[in-house]
Amino acid sequence: MERILIIGGGIAGTATALGLHKAGFDVSVHEAHPDTAEDIGAFLTLASNGMRALAQLGASDAVTAIGFPLRSLCLLDAQGGEVAHAPMGEADDVLLRYRCLRRGELNAALQGEAVRRGIRITHGTRLVSFENGPDQVTARFADGSVATGELLIGADGLNSAVRRSIAPGAEPVYAGQRVFYGYTRSAQVADGTGHITMVRGSKASFGYAVSPDREAYWFARVAAEALSGTELANPETSHRRDQLVEMLRADATPAAGIVAAATDGIMATNATELPPGTPWRSGRTLIIGDAAHAASPATGQGASMALEDAVILAKSLRDAPDTESALSLYEEFRRPRVEHNITVSGQISRGTHTPSRTGSAPAPQRPGEDTLMSQLEWDIDLRTVSGGTDGAGTPESTGN
Ligand SMILES: Cc1cc2nc3c(=O)[nH]c(=O)nc-3n(C[C@H](O)[C@H](O)[C@H](O)COP(=O)(O)OP(=O)(O)OC[C@H]3O[C@@H](n4cnc5c(N)ncnc54)[C@H](O)[C@@H]3O)c2cc1C
Repeated sequence: MERILIIGGGIAGTATALGLHKAGFDVSVHEAHPDTAEDIGAFLTLASNGMRALAQLGASDAVTAIGFPLRSLCLLDAQGGEVAHAPMGEADDVLLRYRCLRRGELNAALQGEAVRRGIRITHGTRLVSFENGPDQVTARFADGSVATGELLIGADGLNSAVRRSIAPGAEPVYAGQRVFYGYTRSAQVADGTGHITMVRGSKASFGYAVSPDREAYWFARVAAEALSGTELANPETSHRRDQLVEMLRADATPAAGIVAAATDGIMATNATELPPGTPWRSGRTLIIGDAAHAASPATGQGASMALEDAVILAKSLRDAPDTESALSLYEEFRRPRVEHNITVSGQISRGTHTPSRTGSAPAPQRPGEDTLMSQLEWDIDLRTVSGGTDGAGTPESTGN
């Protein structure tokens, strides 16, 4: 295969470009946003599995240069009492420990690494349509430009234009929670940096991590009907803050104080997921990342799953004898794991599943973790690895 087009230069698209380039493919990334989108406000947590995928892509240095590490998780009840405090993931490994990052900085770091390796990223190119032919796929962009390749990978996120074309009936659905986030500089909390505190509040799930320069990165998840388009588009920050503080004050935890002192605007979104079973492939086209398997943010695994996608897809295309069998191999490995995450995360968001970590003992090994390590290990031929059918287990829930 000579040329691969990637639509979307977010986490999935850029990481996949790194993987495919490493595997020797000619790859180009076509991103709708006019720049690296460093200004995108929200933050996320990369888990050890995502950090492992980054390491296999040779991108650890680019990502550990930003954000800050998290080594442990502290769980509080609604009275502010500590229910658990335990290490998270591969806390002792500098490259693999959890990391808290601003989303825009992560995008910029990955894109910078791709450009450094000579990968073409074109900004301001929004895909509007594509045509699958017998030998190649042709992509058309809003600016009138056209690109051709032998494979088109849709990494264009939750509202994917590529998915709408190959799976028109597959629409994201609301997972039952509003999600708010913000930053509070000089937060009045006793915590040092290096851990995330999760609060099982009576009216909201709350979480925060304090950066080395004492800025609290926080989120709240609240069960309620979905925010309307108008509410999402026209945030009344003070009203949003007052409502949240009112809710959080019901509990004797640091949450209300952190939100009351929020530095800038409070961001809000609806927890959204794609129904399992969404078709991923049509002709010379495949969707990955949130375009294929967006999950509610409760498990905090979406970006890490996207990074895993990147490594496994690059290895599939490298190791399988032809494109068709490569895409089958990829789907065989990925679908059970990512759909398990959609299900578990959706259950947490809807309150029908309690996340792990209720005691102080280390979390049990996730099912399939040993297989996952072999799947991700760059030098192991994917065809020699068994499984694709074991689930992801219940990830430690650090999710926003
Ligand atoms: C509230 C919230 C909190 C979260 N917290 C976490 C967390 O703590 N940890 C975690 O791992 N995950 C978290 N996630 C999930 C994570 O953000 C996503 O899973 C991840 O961003 C998916 O990456 P992606 O590249 O597939 O999609 P995106 O990041 O959405 O990237 C898609 C890219 O495609 C571009 N694009 C879109 N349409 C087109 C088009 N037509 N043509 C060209 N380009 C296009 C977009 O501009 C964008 O750059 C959270 C999600 C939410 C909503």
